[in-house]
Amino acid sequence: MSPTKSRDGAPRVLVVEDERDIAALVAYHLTKEGYRVRTAADGEEGLESVASERPDLIVLDLMLPGFSGYEILGELRRRSATADIPVVVLTARRDEADRIKGLELGADDYITKPFSPRELVLRVSAVLRRSQAPAVSGSGRLLRGGPIEVDVAAMRATVDGAELELTPTEFRLLTTLMERRGRVQSRQQLLETAWDIHARIETRTVDMHVQRLRAKLGAAGVWIETVRGFGYRFRAREGAG
Ligand code: CA
Repeated sequence: MSPTKSRDGAPRVLVVEDERDIAALVAYHLTKEGYRVRTAADGEEGLESVASERPDLIVLDLMLPGFSGYEILGELRRRSATADIPVVVLTARRDEADRIKGLELGADDYITKPFSPRELVLRVSAVLRRSQAPAVSGSGRLLRGGPIEVDVAAMRATVDGAELELTPTEFRLLTTLMERRGRVQSRQQLLETAWDIHARIETRTVDMHVQRLRAKLGAAGVWIETVRGFGYRFRAREGAG
């Protein structure tokens, strides 16, 4: 989960967007911020681009000719080589269902069109920051809870010794909950810590990510408890609850 930077040290961003002017606008602003940007005009080209050179982050439009952004996202998350690449989804619709579907499929963040280039650059750098730094300081430390073990520095999480393929956001969410074991964390607290932005993201985003994280944890998912009306809590001790 530690992305290798390009030779010149700049993080690599792939923009998958069929609308040329939007792709050019996004590429322009990200390049200005020091990112190395490639663009792809459809999903097929996007997947080829990912296979030929792994990007550090993907900006993915949902409305694409051919494969939809949803299909691309699903494909990226299914393949172990690409499962942990952070993805920021662009959606033209204000429809909540679209955003939720994107988050359910494992997008790390989303931006609704029309967006300001400044906002896009901020979101991209926030997601990259999250994906490249562990959630908490204290390298080399292991967090344990029941069958779940997290090596913070190595960004590895296992259940009964089997490694989980978590997205950067899911990893930070799990780490944050385990760090504060036994204490209820509100959705807003989780957004501020695990997402590292005082975001305009709806707190519903947290629910989607917790849902995905639990699914990946399998039976060990019960260790993340829902505290109705408040938020989430990592179970305090063995056999509790
Ligand atoms: Ca489009």
